Amino acid sequence: MNRILITGGAGFLGSHLCERLLNEGNEVICMDNYFTGFKKNVAHLLDNPNFELIRHDVIEPFKIEADQIYNLACPASPSHYQYNAIKTMKTSVMGAINCLGGAKRTKARVFQASTSEVYGDPNVHPQTESYWGNVNPIGIRSCYDEGKRAAETLFMDYHRQNGVDIRIARIFNTYGPRMNPEDGRVVSNFICQALRGENITIYGDGTQTRSFCYVDDLIEGFIRLMNQNEVTGPVNLGNAHEFTMLELAQKVQEKIGGSSEIIFKPLPSDDPKQRQPDITLAKKHLDWQPTINLDEGLDRTIAYFQSPI
Ligand code: NAD
Ligand code: UDP
Repeated sequence: MNRILITGGAGFLGSHLCERLLNEGNEVICMDNYFTGFKKNVAHLLDNPNFELIRHDVIEPFKIEADQIYNLACPASPSHYQYNAIKTMKTSVMGAINCLGGAKRTKARVFQASTSEVYGDPNVHPQTESYWGNVNPIGIRSCYDEGKRAAETLFMDYHRQNGVDIRIARIFNTYGPRMNPEDGRVVSNFICQALRGENITIYGDGTQTRSFCYVDDLIEGFIRLMNQNEVTGPVNLGNAHEFTMLELAQKVQEKIGGSSEIIFKPLPSDDPKQRQPDITLAKKHLDWQPTINLDEGLDRTIAYFQSPI
């Protein structure tokens, strides 16, 4: 049994990770400030004696003894990370420093939830880990993109300088039950709009692409990356099947039916035109690849939003 700290554990991905690690017999400490996460996401775990929930902001120092730390604390949707851009940057940078300091002190292995956003609006397609990216340092997405890039830098420097045992995952768009329907991400937006009979809002002309990974596949990738000794990362984790936002909207429309029509709204600035992970490294070192295709994952996610648990 390991004692495992998960920052951002009451969020979408964090709550699935808490559940999975508890099911495997670990002790889990979930730390969250509830900025974008909810106690209700982990309410079903509260009776488990191996589960502990702490309200704490990751930018403030903390001392917790753990064997492993997963650092997920950070707002992840554009509307939420832009709400207080300075706080987003602080969360990435100070959160990384606090987790790395803790890992250095306790000799814990520490995992960083990085993102495909480190590639910005990529000129290399699909994106390999060796690509340095095309990121605007002064735009409205920069607080998130540059914050996550700075966090990767800190992880690598603590590793090189202090021998801290790190793992870095570059996560591509992930969806599934417990996405926050208010956070504006495309899969939850389209599904909730269609379920409410509202029009489905495509930003821009809908030709931009994303590659969507179902949450259970991603969590499997997290665990495999954390518990192997071949690579520190960064390793891309995501589904390599790429779709345009128009294709996604049409799929959701067909699955849910109803009166919703597809409408077009202005594209936010710096919105990446294309995104697809090259997952060669994850296949090779983690023997990992997604198993749930978009149709199946959308069906499960629609079922959740029809009756959220
Ligand atoms: P989420 O918003 O549901 O979860 C983030 C959690 O972190 C929330 O519970 C929030 O309350 C908490 N949090 C935010 N700031 C905090 C702070 N200062 N102190 C403590 N807790 C704080 O988002 P998610 O999709 O679950 O994302 C989890 C992590 O994965 C994030 O770091 C995100 O950048 C990364 N990621 C997610 C995706 C994706 O598609 N879901 C893609 C790339 C990277
Ligand atoms: N998007 C959209 N309609 C929406 C929400 C998002 O067309 O209601 C687009 C958005 O402009 C982007 C893509 O969907 O091109 C993915 O957006 P999301 O915020 O989910 O993730 P990210 O842009 O961070 O990859």
